[in-house]
Amino acid sequence: MFKSCPCGHDMKLILRTVVHARKASIVNVPVYSCEICSRNEVFPGVKEELGRLVGRLGTRPQAQRIPFDEIHEWAAVLREVAAADRPLQAASVMRKAEERTNELLDLMLIASSLGDEIWKKELKRRLSQLSAQYIPT
Ligand SMILES: [Zn+2]
Repeated sequence: MFKSCPCGHDMKLILRTVVHARKASIVNVPVYSCEICSRNEVFPGVKEELGRLVGRLGTRPQAQRIPFDEIHEWAAVLREVAAADRPLQAASVMRKAEERTNELLDLMLIASSLGDEIWKKELKRRLSQLSAQYIPT
């Protein structure tokens, strides 16, 4: 999982802790990072959700630790793959994302049979996080 850095080297996809307003630590944020020039770019697929989270926290957040992998399915997939496989390989990431999609679809079946609209909505949101997001650049 690489993209090229403006400095000419490869940026690696890693999971980082992003500290917001010096108080809130957001852990397991997928970030492309360059070892040569130390440039960091948030993984495009999670940028919007991270922006929303930071917006919710505001400029004076309480000291807290927020696991981003519980908020965004991509961060969860990448965290699981990273635990087993370093550096992150695109093939294993895709495989894990597919597994997770199937899992969510199974849950969707259960939610539908229970007629649980709130759960269905939550599952739909998570599925759309996974389906829209993989854009290698
Ligand atoms: Zn660089």
